[in-house]
Amino acid sequence: MSQRRAPLAPDPRELDPRAARAWTEPMAVTPLSGGCYAVETDHGSYTVDVPGRRCTCPDHRYRHERCKHLRRVAIEINLERAPPPGKRRADCAACGDEAFVPETAEPPLCTDCRLDPGDVVTDRETGDTLVVRRVRSDRADEYVIEATGKTVAAHETNERYPANDLVVDVVYLGDELRNREPRVYAFPYSRLRRVEDAAIVD
Ligand SMILES: [Zn+2]
Ligand SMILES: [Zn+2]
Repeated sequence: MSQRRAPLAPDPRELDPRAARAWTEPMAVTPLSGGCYAVETDHGSYTVDVPGRRCTCPDHRYRHERCKHLRRVAIEINLERAPPPGKRRADCAACGDEAFVPETAEPPLCTDCRLDPGDVVTDRETGDTLVVRRVRSDRADEYVIEATGKTVAAHETNERYPANDLVVDVVYLGDELRNREPRVYAFPYSRLRRVEDAAIVD
């Protein structure tokens, strides 16, 4: 079965005039924080507030219209040219791919690489089950383990993993279940395998 042939952009002749201008006029959209975007046009610069559905242009302020700037920001978000509110564009600190990540996430991680506190992972070396406490912004060759005075990368069992891996704080699941304050260990990111990934591979 063949796909129905269709244009990628709408036909401006069939659009509401404001929507047509939103698609066709040259504008530059720059994300600010808190769901706001700066929109530069040939006639001026305006600020669009997506959650508040507001724009600083006269068309919106005086005529209360859904102006071309509000529409343009919505289009750019839909086309993934601009991050949605609450997200920012960043290079993933683990795989390096560009992604939209939560605005305040540090380190920035794409959906594939993200580890959240409480996620269950396994140690690729021992098969032990661990629970993630946090992903640090430190790299394995920078972060010194207090108990040994050596970096995570210099730890004997971590030789196989990249020296520039992120460091992940974990606790052993058994400790977590038995102790109120289980001891926290620093692991290189690549040494950990998410449990759902493990289920697919094994
Ligand atoms: Zn506007
Ligand atoms: Zn990634």
